[in-house]
Amino acid sequence: MHTVAIIGKPNVGKSSLFNKIIKKRKAIISDEPGVTRDINYETLCLNGIVFRLADSAGISREREEIRILGQRMNRRLVEEASLLVFLCEIDTLSREDFEIAEIIRKSGKPYIWLINKVDSEKKMNNFYDFFDLALESPLPISVQQGKNIDELVRMISEKMQQITAHEPIEKIGGKSAPPVRNSLIHVAIVGRPNVGKSSLLNLLVNSERSLVASDPGTTRDSIDETINFEDIDLKLIDTAGIRKRSKIKENLEFYSFVRTGKAVKESSICVLIIDATAGITTQDKKIASLIRKEKRGMIIAANKWDLMREHNVDQKEFIRNIHDFFPHAAFAQVIPLSAKTGYNKIKLLKSIIKVYNNYYMHIKTGELNSVIRNFTLRGARVKYGYQKSSAPPVFEFFVGHIETFNSNFKRYITNNLRKSFDFTGVPIEVILRKD
Ligand code: GDP
Repeated sequence: MHTVAIIGKPNVGKSSLFNKIIKKRKAIISDEPGVTRDINYETLCLNGIVFRLADSAGISREREEIRILGQRMNRRLVEEASLLVFLCEIDTLSREDFEIAEIIRKSGKPYIWLINKVDSEKKMNNFYDFFDLALESPLPISVQQGKNIDELVRMISEKMQQITAHEPIEKIGGKSAPPVRNSLIHVAIVGRPNVGKSSLLNLLVNSERSLVASDPGTTRDSIDETINFEDIDLKLIDTAGIRKRSKIKENLEFYSFVRTGKAVKESSICVLIIDATAGITTQDKKIASLIRKEKRGMIIAANKWDLMREHNVDQKEFIRNIHDFFPHAAFAQVIPLSAKTGYNKIKLLKSIIKVYNNYYMHIKTGELNSVIRNFTLRGARVKYGYQKSSAPPVFEFFVGHIETFNSNFKRYITNNLRKSFDFTGVPIEVILRKD
């Protein structure tokens, strides 16, 4: 797992910053806080990227041996981290800051540079002295007043996106390294009541912890479970337990929809379960558009396929029908499934990992441009472009003529991107700009 390390000399506010960031992200913190020897770690998830935030705990005196110990700790953290958060203090620029700046420069690692305790405008008088450290883009903050902390969290998220975007993405089952290392994939299992969410969760966690009965009024508690499949951790965000809590039907539907929305937001990949025997309902469509709106990866699991089999339903035709009914979700793979018999369980798990890889896929600019050269529609063509971000993938393309700015051309490009690269299960956004 990647580490983001807060480094700096004693007393500049490292631990306060650590706590502040953690508090900001409380809602999505995973549950492994703890102190490992002299370093504090907390696992966080920002925009789908999981990493450990680290700071050197318990170094607060300035006695010489502790100072040396502190520097040793800084070195260790620098070695361990993928991203460095270097904290200085506006009133105390000193030799130690220069030493740490040197360690950072030598490491060649990406960093964010913060000057803390800028509690007032007046304090900014000293700000420019820091440029002597010869690092880039210092950001004034005040941990105590919460100043620029949101900006910092945004910067961490952005830098981590860049760091993880360059990681090799391999196809599952391939010879090379496993596809998603260091990752915990957040998967939301969503669907209207009674489609088989609890049954699927039971199947996946391989336990009978959840209560499933033929009575559609069954209640169970909502529990998130983490399972491991092919060395990859999948956190299954459960929405199954929420349904029959409320006695009032309208409230229930509303509550259930809100909970589904929350689960979708917490996830990178959503498994939308539909009841194959019932076909597509309005509520299924509502949930699909929710997933679409949040731009998450999507898989449609057509559950209770054991019953469809009894009627010899043709799978290919069924899948085609689903895509016709769900034009918004045409990019999603449809997997016939039986939570009862276990049919296609492995296929579903593999698909989750595949979609996750696609979600985070970053196409190299060179490769992208050699492919888009061939994209022409009635004389309109893209001059060049690049993938602006991943999770979900956003592409920016530059075109010569303003006439090409129409939705047909955009759709044409999106379709061709899908033909050229495997973005199964993932929404793609294309932005066109005049060159
Ligand atoms: P949830 O409300 O979405 O959590 O749905 P449940 O998991 O409680 O399932 C509702 C009903 O459908 C229960 O009676 C299950 O036994 C049944 N069920 C779930 N999955 C399957 C399946 O794959 N095949 C069949 N035949 N029944 C299923």
